[in-house]
Amino acid sequence: MKNIQKEKTLIVIKPDGIQRSLIGEIVKRYERLGLKLVALKMFVPKSDFIEKHYTVDLNWRMANGEKTIKAYRDKSLTPPTDDPMEMSAMTLEKLKKYMSSGPVVAMVWEGAHAVQIVRKITGGTEPLTSDVGTIRGDFVLDSYQISDPTGRAVRNLIHASGSIDDAEKEINLWFKPEEIIKYNLVQEHILYDVNLDGILE
Ligand code: ADP
Repeated sequence: MKNIQKEKTLIVIKPDGIQRSLIGEIVKRYERLGLKLVALKMFVPKSDFIEKHYTVDLNWRMANGEKTIKAYRDKSLTPPTDDPMEMSAMTLEKLKKYMSSGPVVAMVWEGAHAVQIVRKITGGTEPLTSDVGTIRGDFVLDSYQISDPTGRAVRNLIHASGSIDDAEKEINLWFKPEEIIKYNLVQEHILYDVNLDGILE
């Protein structure tokens, strides 16, 4: 069995997150949870790289298209198309523009249930319906209804891997193995040790 405490996930602060001066706020949210930052870099991604990133998961096109169509229907709105593959093809083109429009901060965070817990505090894709208290819910107000007709991607500050499998593929794409640092954090004792021996003098 894999060591759950060593689970890793990819987080990317998207160009709007940098422009909104939210790097510190976003990093703080993951850091205070108890996760460990093991890699970090800032650069301007190329559009081809973004296509590779979103298509490492072979199911992404279908899942993204279905999710968007459902989001429209849930609000009694008519989606731009009923075909999920056509919907996600449109989204991918917008995403390539959005994600290559300026610098991003890419990070790898490690810790117990890193993938799931990061998705939870990041919040749902569409800020209009992201839960209160999540990063997307607290710091941005976009919706498909306003982004789609203007031909841009929904601005939601962050990318976070959707599954353990995607996280492994995405981390391989964004980082070289030597860029991921193996080190101990003192707080890991309080997070994971069976006994809290050694606190009292
Ligand atoms: P998530 O980022 O929450 O995992 P997806 O992988 O489905 O969501 O979508 C990738 C990104 O594409 C989203 O974060 C968002 O920026 C953008 N996006 C998704 N669907 C749409 C859409 N229908 N219209 C505009 N932008 C979209």
